Amino acid sequence: MQTYGQVLEHWKKIETLGSAQSILYWDMETYMPEGSTPTRQAHLTLISGLIHQWTNDPKFKEAVLSQKIKASNEIEKRNLELWTKSILVSSAVDEKFVAKFSKISTECNVKWRAAKKDSNFKSIEPLFKELVSLCRENLEKIKNLPDLKSRYANKSLYGVAFDQFEPGLDITEMEKLLTNLCKGTKDRLPQFIEKAQKNKKDIQIDPKLINKEFCKDLMGKFAFDFTKGRLDESTHPFCGGTTGDVRLTTRLNPTDAVEDLFSTLHELGHALYEQGLPEKTAYEPAGKACSMGVHESQSRFLENFIGRSRAFSNYLAQKLNVDAEALYSRLNPIKLDYIRVDSDEVTYNFHILLRFEMERDLMEGKLEVKDLPEKWNARFQELTGLKVTKDSLGCLQDTHWYSGSFGYFPSYSLGNMFAAELFVDFQKAHPDWSEKVSQGHFEFVRNFMADRVYPLAAHYDSPETMQKIIGRKVSEQTLLQYFDKKFG
Ligand SMILES: [Zn+2]
Repeated sequence: MQTYGQVLEHWKKIETLGSAQSILYWDMETYMPEGSTPTRQAHLTLISGLIHQWTNDPKFKEAVLSQKIKASNEIEKRNLELWTKSILVSSAVDEKFVAKFSKISTECNVKWRAAKKDSNFKSIEPLFKELVSLCRENLEKIKNLPDLKSRYANKSLYGVAFDQFEPGLDITEMEKLLTNLCKGTKDRLPQFIEKAQKNKKDIQIDPKLINKEFCKDLMGKFAFDFTKGRLDESTHPFCGGTTGDVRLTTRLNPTDAVEDLFSTLHELGHALYEQGLPEKTAYEPAGKACSMGVHESQSRFLENFIGRSRAFSNYLAQKLNVDAEALYSRLNPIKLDYIRVDSDEVTYNFHILLRFEMERDLMEGKLEVKDLPEKWNARFQELTGLKVTKDSLGCLQDTHWYSGSFGYFPSYSLGNMFAAELFVDFQKAHPDWSEKVSQGHFEFVRNFMADRVYPLAAHYDSPETMQKIIGRKVSEQTLLQYFDKKFG
């Protein structure tokens, strides 16, 4: 490989295989028969091995790392920078490690489902312990890479993990934002709860009205492109697939249809971002989503800032033939809950603080896997006053850790904070936004993001991207002010 063009061609091969891999993951979560797990494990093991092999192709690595390849514009320069980082990070472990990691994490994920169902942490403990130790080994190796010393030498193992999801944002900065946010929230909470209780009204919603067709219709109103994406069902809603083929899933629970609608809105925010990334650079590292925090800002914006607004309640109330005030209070309860994904937009960040502390201590070897349930329950009670009586309501509720993903959780709260910043600018750009939303016009919401957020893709690291979009630094105060205005 001698030229930039040859390097790019090679990378496109890796990206193409990666997108096939994500469709296989989507299938595993939606339609794959249970008995096919070993077959699928074989697919995924082979694919992740191949991706690792191609990423580590000596010719590709040499071409990128030699710095002999000349970039002819800023995007090419950024691609070379991102390739360099990803080559170095992935070279930290060998193929044998990658295959082992893929096998253990797939197995652990499958076992986690049963463990969660039976609320039995013990049943997954040995396998999970092995997975945690593999993750730590991986981080240790990345941290000690000579060529990444300037980036990671002063970071904790957890800081290294966080950088894989939120490149460029220091973990101590994130910790400050998150703890200040939770402190500010805690002070305000009694007042918010009291007001929400006072405004609570009974409401009956016909769950039959909110079905898959309803969700699809809403997606269409936000200009989701159904020729390059689809909606299906899964236990844990997610947005997968790839820019040219976005696979969105939702839960369709007949007893709580309203929540399904909001999980669809959430995933739709992710999906629109993926669909809106510049097509020209879809297979290039600089053309990807910037970070998990920016991704999450997109989903939170739709779910909470638009979806749980008074204006959206007005729109939805007409559709569902219910009282708009009652619907608004139904969509905006403030109450402490065991389950992260069921919690309201205010107390949600407590759940993140808890996970942040637990995963930080697991990765830094300060918390042993066997002590996780006890530590989780104690800290949860401290934060919320609620006593966890079974692990399915506690440390078994989320899939992330059991698939080997650590360092992701803080991005959820960062996304909330960045969404609040975007909302300030959105209101300035569209002073009539609530009339439009009340009338069921949503395309302009997507267009606002298409204007400000999507085109930047991963041209810069996360803090720089956010700064460029809003022209200031993200502050937890903006989200707290939004809480005050809405719930105070
Ligand atoms: Zn999300």
